Amino acid sequence: MTPALSVRAARKTFGGLVAVNDVSFDVRQGELLGLIGPNGSGKTTMLNLISGALKPTSGAILLEGETISGLAAHHIARKGIARTFQLVKILPSLDAAQNVTAGAVFGHRRLWGDDARALAHTLLDRVGLADRAHMPVSSMTYIDQKRVELARALASDPRVLLLDEWLAGLNPSELKIGISLIDELRHEGRTIIMVEHVMDAIRTLCDRCVVMSSGVRIAEGGVAETLSDPEVVRAYLGDDDDA
Ligand code: ADP
Ligand code: MG
Repeated sequence: MTPALSVRAARKTFGGLVAVNDVSFDVRQGELLGLIGPNGSGKTTMLNLISGALKPTSGAILLEGETISGLAAHHIARKGIARTFQLVKILPSLDAAQNVTAGAVFGHRRLWGDDARALAHTLLDRVGLADRAHMPVSSMTYIDQKRVELARALASDPRVLLLDEWLAGLNPSELKIGISLIDELRHEGRTIIMVEHVMDAIRTLCDRCVVMSSGVRIAEGGVAETLSDPEVVRAYLGDDDDA
């Protein structure tokens, strides 16, 4: 079967810095792939290349066999890639339902009017925000803003969902809720790439993982074997900034 997403020798340089150094991997249909690595290893840059926020310096990215690298970010969103951001990005002056409706209108599904609004309410219910649908997101707690952002990404019915440290900053009970929410998405058969520092979440949720260090893919495979790979252990031991 054609992979949901193929990253082929993707490279991104910022001046003299090679943030992503000829990285390749495939994501299978319905797979939850963990993209992990120490801080500064290029994970967010990789997601930016996939979503089109940044264009690769060289290499290619294919969505279900079709080259998407080089397209504008809004075209890539239309083709079916949605994301959440390491630092939440939602429209603060709008309420939760309006934010999620925007995701339905501008995403892969292209819903309008009542259909978009109905989907928004279904998804807010799904992420546990049914009673806060009309609260301005600027007055929501951080976890609730994250929930809105996830619902907005889901509203586009993405073929591939990118989560950039979606679980970061949650307290232990919120973390449990967050992990079970992602687990449900996985069981629905969504294809997801999850950048995450929370190792328990990686172990619980991921089918496989890709490990980056200093822009290079240093390991790929099943979670248990990958996390015990000596090179991976070394890369993490050198990372004393656990933020
Ligand atoms: P991670 O998400 O793994 O922590 P990033 O992808 O954010 O890592 O960053 C990888 C490297 O690229 C870092 O050294 C970072 O400083 C650098 N970098 C990321 N984005 C930019 C940018 N827009 N301009 C210059 N350097 C950047
Ligand atoms: Mg990052």
